[in-house]
Amino acid sequence: EQKAKGKDGFTIFENCMHLNSIKFIQLSNRLREALPNKELLLYFQPQYDIRTGELFGLEALIRWNHPTKGFIPPIEFISIAEKTGYIVELSEWTLKTAIEQKREWDKKGLPSVKIAINMSGCVITNTKVFENICNILDELKIQPGEIEVEVTETAVMMELDKAKIHLQKLKEYGISIAIDDFGSGYSSLNYLNLLPFDILKIDYEFLNKIKNKEDESLIYQTIIRLAHDMNLSVIAEGVETIEQLEFLKKYQCDIGQGYYYCKPIPAIEIEKLLLSEISMVHETLD
Ligand code: C2E
Ligand code: MG
Ligand code: MG
Ligand code: MG
Repeated sequence: EQKAKGKDGFTIFENCMHLNSIKFIQLSNRLREALPNKELLLYFQPQYDIRTGELFGLEALIRWNHPTKGFIPPIEFISIAEKTGYIVELSEWTLKTAIEQKREWDKKGLPSVKIAINMSGCVITNTKVFENICNILDELKIQPGEIEVEVTETAVMMELDKAKIHLQKLKEYGISIAIDDFGSGYSSLNYLNLLPFDILKIDYEFLNKIKNKEDESLIYQTIIRLAHDMNLSVIAEGVETIEQLEFLKKYQCDIGQGYYYCKPIPAIEIEKLLLSEISMVHETLD
């Protein structure tokens, strides 16, 4: 009986695998059409200076607006693109689109803010990402200091040496490097020393977990202090409530990003936000 059960279980598992690989292939083929079909777009989420409340930067977040399925979350299709290698093409598009968008805002005379771009580890380690970014920035006359590249540690630890060389080049050129989702996954404090980071983004799960819990709060405070001791700026991800913001203020976290401030929004909405920044400056001058 035991055996029969096991066998059944195995059959189900096998079918499941089969189904998953069909879905994988379908979605991965479909994703290649998304770019030419113009179904991909960038949303942007503002980041704010916690102390002054000033706009600090905008994180570009990719969106796939599928004609029948609606918005497919990036965590679903980015991992597929990483497995098939399509991520290289996708990243080139993201980079170019984000920087072009910034150029457009600058040309309209809107306040100039830094743009943060997420980069998959395999793109950092296996492509001419440096030459690529330099060319785009050169062509569009954007200062490297206006760009931040975000990488997760799990993504770069596979090929640490290459990652180090490529990130170092970007940093020397003037681009800021952020470690994304710090504290999630297999965080090792070692990476903070090995890779040339300027900014540390604390994973939103940490802030979520605090809710009056002494020890969780202590971990958070310690990460902030450690980052500051290493000359890194700290961005808190997932700031959702005023209580969380007060906590971050109290422990001198530098920058906040999350639904409390603003959700990721389309470029046209960002434009309105940048316009209101101008009128705010005028109000304080009056
Ligand atoms: P991430 O870089 O850590 O981006 C932050 C994610 O947190 C975003 O999810 C954002 O919508 C979400 N978020 C923002 N504020 C809050 C909040 O207050 N509470 C909560 N619970 N979540 C918040 P999103 O846009 O779904 O992106 C997910 C991940 O997909 C990103 O995580 C990033 O790793 C990846 N990703 C997005 N765009 C790109 C891209 O252009 N290239 C690459 N390689 N990866 C991307
Ligand atoms: Mg990010
Ligand atoms: Mg993150
Ligand atoms: Mg994340």
